[in-house]
Amino acid sequence: MNKHKIAIIGSGPAGYSAAIYTSRAEIETTIYAGKEPGGQLTKTTEIENYPGGLGLTGPELMVKMGEQASKFGAITKWEEVEKISSQFSVLSSQGEEKYDGIIIATGASPRLMGVGEEKYYGKGFSTCAVCDAAFYKGKTVYVVGGGDAAIEDTMALTKFASQVTLLVRRDELRASKAMQKKVLDNPEVKIMWETELVGIKGDERVEKLELRIKNQELREVKAEGLFFAIGHIPATKWLEGSGVELDKKGYIKNGVVGGVSWAKGYPTMTAIPGVVAAGDCVDYRYRQAVTAAGMGVMAALDMEKWLESK
Ligand code: NDP
Repeated sequence: MNKHKIAIIGSGPAGYSAAIYTSRAEIETTIYAGKEPGGQLTKTTEIENYPGGLGLTGPELMVKMGEQASKFGAITKWEEVEKISSQFSVLSSQGEEKYDGIIIATGASPRLMGVGEEKYYGKGFSTCAVCDAAFYKGKTVYVVGGGDAAIEDTMALTKFASQVTLLVRRDELRASKAMQKKVLDNPEVKIMWETELVGIKGDERVEKLELRIKNQELREVKAEGLFFAIGHIPATKWLEGSGVELDKKGYIKNGVVGGVSWAKGYPTMTAIPGVVAAGDCVDYRYRQAVTAAGMGVMAALDMEKWLESK
């Protein structure tokens, strides 16, 4: 059959879930896996919050998703996309290909600080408390940030950790007033104002944090967990000038997030009809593997319907 041919850009949960649906619908599907195949889950260890994923590690889950997409005929190109056009051409390091539709699922990366944190991923350091809080039962943990996500992460951790301290670089929080209320007078949460994280110590796992308080005093504290909630960077820079509209933080606007339904009946459609988008490159709010996968499926179904209408 293969009446139609589409490109999926990105190989995280959103991209692979979309690919499973489009390839099973007998749409010829090419996945551009990008420079971090598997996306953010490849940086985690155990998975406890992906339905059916218990007992798997993040990398194992992503390999399974990729295999499932391949089983139904999706082709994976281990290439990074440089550009797309409104005529559905995809330019990668290996050349240019034309498609009938494009699904963008390039994800986002948590903002990091460059204080040696990457070495401790899954060993006391995490960028997703909603995912990992349950691993910190009875432990002393620190959260860096001051926005809504930092408050949400802090609250998620209070259910498990014995002590949660929020490290805020300024003397005020950026979070909304309603969110601030949850931590400001909460005896379970300690806040250290005007405090910067400058270093991490520990042989195998996070053991100590080096803090600079009010720009001068250096202090070392014992820590068993460290969470960053200092924002995310959507992987969308390559879309600038393509016609796909981005919000001021670089997230893709589609009908689901962004408040505008560009094409009636196609919630995941971007500003270019025939280009849909899903997952963390669109969604700054939920950012879970399972929500990304769900949105990937929505994008695949929207794409199928749009192609049928042509
Ligand atoms: P934000 O950009 O809103 O906040 C980032 C926070 O991290 C700021 O307080 C910032 O400090 C701090 N920060 C940034 N870089 C550093 C650094 N190097 N060292 C220390 N601190 C740093 O990001 P969020 O992820 O919190 O939120 C993103 C979006 O998602 C927002 O629109 C938010 O409202 C929304 N959201 C809503 C939720 C809800 O309503 N329940 C839950 C989660 C997110 P500073 O203030 O000094 O710049």
